[in-house]
Amino acid sequence: MAEPMLHVDGLQKAFGALQATDGVTLTLMPGEIHALIGPNGAGKSTLIKQIAGGLAPDAGRIWFDGREVTALGTPARARAGLGRTFQISSLAMEATVLQNAVLGAMGRAGSAWRFLRPVMRDAELVEQAQAALQRVGLTDHAATRTAELSHGQRRLLEVAVALTLQPKAFVMDEPMAGLGASGSKRMTSFLDGLRREAPILLVEHDMDAVFALADRISVLVYGKIIATGTADDIRADPQVRTAYLGE
Ligand code: ADP
Ligand code: MG
Repeated sequence: MAEPMLHVDGLQKAFGALQATDGVTLTLMPGEIHALIGPNGAGKSTLIKQIAGGLAPDAGRIWFDGREVTALGTPARARAGLGRTFQISSLAMEATVLQNAVLGAMGRAGSAWRFLRPVMRDAELVEQAQAALQRVGLTDHAATRTAELSHGQRRLLEVAVALTLQPKAFVMDEPMAGLGASGSKRMTSFLDGLRREAPILLVEHDMDAVFALADRISVLVYGKIIATGTADDIRADPQVRTAYLGE
């Protein structure tokens, strides 16, 4: 049995009296897309932030690529190979598409990283940025101001920015949010291929995308995982049907 790329054990986070994540345990295996679904307010974004390092857990531990990262900050986790995209865009809207990708390649994880990292030549940064843009199909828009991109193109740019760090795994918070049918289709086929180089923990509301992509699905309700299984398992689970699919 392969080792998990990511292993989360008993994660908890309370906001005052509200228990946003309540003992979440899950794994992300090499080569897989593990989708995390659940109603609004279930704690999905909180969990993703805890895994990416932006939000310290009250309890629980996280291992990534064979070592414990619970005490590491976001930059160190990114450096260890954990890539991420957010529910809310983190792009610089006035910058060009290429500039955003270069910022990514420089390590948007923070200045500390840039300081510690051996100096990388500008040409190398631009090359990495261009390669990432090409992979998501944005090469023709390299000189476009980011604000002028369609919503779908922005989401692809966010993925390109994450790709510049050549992650070993991804956590993604609703990459399909707000995409139309064609945008979702494009993102779906991109993620489908991406899993082979880096497994993806995918928070997503778009059930068509989830059922098309996920090797495994976990259902989070009120901070707790109530079921994990294949798409068929999840569709058939009576608890999931009442708690989440609304049947
Ligand atoms: P989801 O992504 O599944 O919709 P979230 O993780 O965003 O859920 O939120 C889980 C719960 O925690 C919600 O009730 C939300 O209002 C609350 N919450 C999230 N972030 C904060 C915060 N920074 N401060 C207070 N409450 C928060
Ligand atoms: Mg959310």
